[in-house]
Amino acid sequence: QAKAKGKCRYEIFNSLMYAQVAGQLQLETDLRRGLEQGEFVVHYQPIISLFTNRMVGFEALVRWNHPERGLVPPDRFIPIAEETGLLVPLDWWVLNQACGQMRRWQSQFPASQKMVMSVNLSGKQFWQPDCLEQIEGVLHKTGLPRSNLKLEVTEGTLIDNDMPTSRLLSQIRALGMGLSIDDFGTGYSSLSYLHRFPFNTLKIDRSFISMQFSGESKIVEAIIVLAHNLGMNVIAEGVETSKHKQRLRELGCEQAQGYLFSPPVDAVSATELFDSQFAAAL
Ligand code: C2E
Ligand code: MG
Ligand code: MG
Ligand code: MG
Repeated sequence: QAKAKGKCRYEIFNSLMYAQVAGQLQLETDLRRGLEQGEFVVHYQPIISLFTNRMVGFEALVRWNHPERGLVPPDRFIPIAEETGLLVPLDWWVLNQACGQMRRWQSQFPASQKMVMSVNLSGKQFWQPDCLEQIEGVLHKTGLPRSNLKLEVTEGTLIDNDMPTSRLLSQIRALGMGLSIDDFGTGYSSLSYLHRFPFNTLKIDRSFISMQFSGESKIVEAIIVLAHNLGMNVIAEGVETSKHKQRLRELGCEQAQGYLFSPPVDAVSATELFDSQFAAAL
């Protein structure tokens, strides 16, 4: 009987695996087509100053507008895109879109020149020997000044490739672009990253923000003090309530991003956000 049960389980496992593999293959094919046919869109989430309550920038976040599945979030397709080598072209495309969009907003809203566009970079991009040239090429092509671009990398990216990354990050900073360490605290956290790499912004992962008020966590407070002592400013991710916001402001956290202010929105809605903040200053 045990044997029968075992066999049965094995078959279930097998058909599940089959469905998974088939689904994966389908996604891969779809992904390739999606890239060719322009099914991807960039959404923008405002980043807010906790001191002035005004927008200081946006983070560009990619979405896949799949013909049958609808708007697919990045966590669902980025791992597959990475495996199949499609993430690199996708990421360069996102950088192009985001920089071009920011440049258009700058011309449309002259008072917005200080707004910064943050874009996520992946580890594979770092491995490209001409990574810096490509970034510079996008800035040149779109006309966006370097100081209006900030690149976000996660701890996972850093652990994958130590030496080339270190030089590249220094060059990026030396050229005047911003550099954020993203999802801080969730990766293979090593505090030594913080002084080994020239980050000027630390983004506290949203898991710590929601944890903060469970009463047992002083982690957020400690991270903010640490970042400040190392000369970085702090962005809190996933700020969902005004209580979060209030507490973060008391702790000296400079900026925040989260559903309390706005979810990521498409370029049309983001233009309306620009309009409401900068139109009066025209
Ligand atoms: P991330 O860079 O840490 O981006 C922040 C994520 O938190 C976004 O998820 C955003 O929608 C979500 N978020 C923002 N505020 C809140 C909030 O108040 N509550 C909650 N629960 N979530 C909030 P999204 O857009 O699904 O992106 C997930 C991840 O996918 C990103 O995390 C980033 O690592 C990656 N990603 C997104 N776009 C790109 C891209 O163009 N290239 C690469 N390489 N990765 C990307
Ligand atoms: Mg990010
Ligand atoms: Mg993050
Ligand atoms: Mg993340």
